[in-house]
Amino acid sequence: MMRYVSTRGVAPELGFTDVLLAGLATDGGLYVPAEWPALPPAHVGAKYAQRAAQVIQLFVGDDLAPATVQRLCDEAYATFAHPDVAPLVKLRDQDYVQELFHGPTLAFKDIALQLVGRMFDEVLRARGQRVTVVGATSGDTGSAAIDGVKNCGNVDIVILFPQGRTSDVQRKQMTTVDSPNVRVVAVDGTFDDCQDLVKAMFNDAEFRERMQLSAVNSINWARVMAQIVYYVTATDALGRINVCVPSGNFGNVFSGWIARRMGAPIDQLVVASNANDILERFFNRNEMTTAPVVPSLSPSMDIQVSSNFERLLFEINGRDGGMTSEQLQRFRTSGRLSVEPDQRSAFIEGRFQAARLDDAETLAVMGQTYRESGMLLDPHSAVAVGATAKLRAAGTLHGTTVTLATAHPAKFPDAVEKATGIRPPLPAHLANLFELEEKMTVLPNDLAAIQKFVATTFT
Ligand SMILES: *Cc1c(COP(=O)(O)O)cnc(C)c1O
Repeated sequence: MMRYVSTRGVAPELGFTDVLLAGLATDGGLYVPAEWPALPPAHVGAKYAQRAAQVIQLFVGDDLAPATVQRLCDEAYATFAHPDVAPLVKLRDQDYVQELFHGPTLAFKDIALQLVGRMFDEVLRARGQRVTVVGATSGDTGSAAIDGVKNCGNVDIVILFPQGRTSDVQRKQMTTVDSPNVRVVAVDGTFDDCQDLVKAMFNDAEFRERMQLSAVNSINWARVMAQIVYYVTATDALGRINVCVPSGNFGNVFSGWIARRMGAPIDQLVVASNANDILERFFNRNEMTTAPVVPSLSPSMDIQVSSNFERLLFEINGRDGGMTSEQLQRFRTSGRLSVEPDQRSAFIEGRFQAARLDDAETLAVMGQTYRESGMLLDPHSAVAVGATAKLRAAGTLHGTTVTLATAHPAKFPDAVEKATGIRPPLPAHLANLFELEEKMTVLPNDLAAIQKFVATTFT
């Protein structure tokens, strides 16, 4: 039986399925396994979905039967357009790009959400429960979450987005999904307004209970878990590697840290940031201080605080939940966080590196990569390709390096065209996106109106 503990040390230990449905722990912390399992060797010729089931079973324990986990992985990864799911493409000598964008909505979040949606449905059906997932999106997460649950009989989903503030492709990826359990709401407000509305619904205990509200945001343990797998398949294929990860909420790169902790031969973990460089400053200068978000060409990395960093902090603190909780409390009041020199030498030096790129540097990397190799990079992936190049030039990164490509270039056609002169077409499964009928509800930025909609729309 796999048990999970909270990073704040107070919430009760839970098994996998309770952690899956709970999201945040009751003490405000994030769940992590009570201990890290060791990585078993790959079976010869294992497909991605088989390796995924083998790794994920270690974290699920007895909560789901192996045949069930394998079926859910098979179904989730059959939705990907590439047979390898997360293929490795050689960019130049010693440099590979791992393409994580072959899922239904063209962003790496599909790798986790296609599986997590199916796991939700399986667990809820067994328990005879239903939930309503509510979420706010500025673009990518909403469509990936909708696509992950659109065929789930026991999950309804309502996604709020700021009207007129997403790209046409992003909006259509949400509004053209024709499923009875999906509702998309255009809020007359900003992304922060949408997020505040979602928080307010969760803070209304009576409403939360009555509607059985649930979330699939990036702090959900199962999402972090599903992302471990492509780090494992990269090391299965290439042996010892460094990985470079375009980072925002720190979920993706933390999954890489777990793969390494389990025994996958990963040397350096490189954190790549855009102008919103809170992580880069922490790793390079040992100071985490919040700053206002500046919009960039890589919007999914435009963050002020990296929510999943708490999981690494818990490890840095020797799994002391009280200490982690105090540190985060101080961070909230002072806006500043740093760790002791001995903690840095034990946990960060020689393991993590970081680099940042602004928008001009990002466009330059996109242009140069296209001219040199013919590869089109989206701006998020380009930040990481540029970070790898910077650290190689600085002489701190040696050997085979895998840089993660987290979005398909066609998802950000304007930036790609600006950098390369090429406007990448949408892949075949989305080619008719602009012909499909859109369905959405426009509502004011008003909690009562949103709650009324959520409470009545599915009955
Ligand atoms: C979400 C996202 C990221 C950031 O991932 P984190 O796990 O939040 O660090 C990077 N690139 C793209 C395209 C994303 O959608």
